[in-house]
Amino acid sequence: TFRALMIVDEEGKPKAAFRQLALSELPDHDVLVEVSYSTLNYKDGLAVSGKGRIARRLPMVAGIDLAGTVVESRSPEWQAGDKVVVNGWGLSETEWGGYTRFQRLKPQWLTRLPDAFSLEQAMAIGTAGYTAALCVDALEDWGSIEAGGREVLVTGAAGGVGSTAISLLARKGYTVTASTGRPESHAYLTELGATGFVDRATLAERGGALQKERWGGAIDSVGSTTLANVLAQTFYGGAVAACGLAGGMDLPGSVAPHILRGVTLIGIDSVMAPAKKRERAWRTLAAHLDAAHLARIARVEPLSDLPRLAEEIVAGKIQGRVVIDVSA
Ligand code: NAP
Repeated sequence: TFRALMIVDEEGKPKAAFRQLALSELPDHDVLVEVSYSTLNYKDGLAVSGKGRIARRLPMVAGIDLAGTVVESRSPEWQAGDKVVVNGWGLSETEWGGYTRFQRLKPQWLTRLPDAFSLEQAMAIGTAGYTAALCVDALEDWGSIEAGGREVLVTGAAGGVGSTAISLLARKGYTVTASTGRPESHAYLTELGATGFVDRATLAERGGALQKERWGGAIDSVGSTTLANVLAQTFYGGAVAACGLAGGMDLPGSVAPHILRGVTLIGIDSVMAPAKKRERAWRTLAAHLDAAHLARIARVEPLSDLPRLAEEIVAGKIQGRVVIDVSA
């Protein structure tokens, strides 16, 4: 048997617990993967701490990401020994996830590990980093940002999405401004390539429908009044890629930036993103993510510490990315 972190039903409430599983208890999907690493995203924090109802059926193996090696495959697409990554696809919501030594998965959920990365690096990126790449690709497709041009704002800067987005944008030559609530992270964010800072408190206050234009584009992982203010400060014709809700799910703004300045709000979803977008995001990461930055962003922690780490990420106390060693 092997150990997994599961969300179980305890007197009608979801609760995280370590359980021993046998291979015969795994779902009957076509590819058996030996998991090396998983990771901790904000959503994992919600699931494991019980602060959000992420699992839609119980018991559920938590963990929305995994990286590992194919052991057995009933699908011609995958062979034993292939190195693979899985991000999202309902893992830890409707499908058993990555906080385990072994998992059985559908062949279409697997992405081939890019040669540029080790299994550990793939999880240092994780859903947070891959979502950052989806955001960068979307802003570039929109075409309102230019290398060396107007400032690009990243909110939730010291978090997982934010840190990776800053590193990617800076390496691509954009002028990056970071919005953070943690002044102690300025040195870290400067190392990743941020050249300007905005105190997140100023973006959290309700502001006017149209404010002084400042951003050529932005990546927002905070939502709520922060996103409304960012839209109100975006230049004529600019775009904001919104992927998160760390500050709230609401959007208390007006249509003014959209109808008077042609500002676009681009929605980013990583969970059900089609294979083509995923492959492109992983190519963006392989080509532009600095390995030294990645090492600076991430640290490895044991599976056994997940309950504590989950509380910390939900409280906004984790900087960068946490890789989970599932055998420790
Ligand atoms: P994370 O590491 O916890 O980062 C979130 C950051 O947001 C924090 O580090 C903090 O940055 C800031 N923050 C936290 N609480 C805040 C508050 N009350 N008001 C304003 N800012 C706050 O989480 P993550 O894994 O990077 O994920 C970021 C967000 O994106 C989450 O909401 C997550 O659910 C979402 N997400 C969505 C997708 C998708 O498919 N759409 C994929 C991945 C993640 P500072 O300390 O720098 O202020």
